[in-house]
Amino acid sequence: MLKLTCKEASRLISQSMDQKLTLAQRATLRLHLSACDACTRFGAQLNSLRAAMRKYRE
Ligand SMILES: [Zn+2]
Repeated sequence: MLKLTCKEASRLISQSMDQKLTLAQRATLRLHLSACDACTRFGAQLNSLRAAMRKYRE
């Protein structure tokens, strides 16, 4: 299994906001997130930012 760096992981996280990731990308990302608090927080932040932006637009 390919290991992600935090830089690659955060790029995948932002990419996943706009487009579907492949099964392999999702799997490697999930693996990284399960071991990395920083990227987990980054993903949560990005998610709430997105939700807030969506709300703002309505
Ligand atoms: Zn990370």
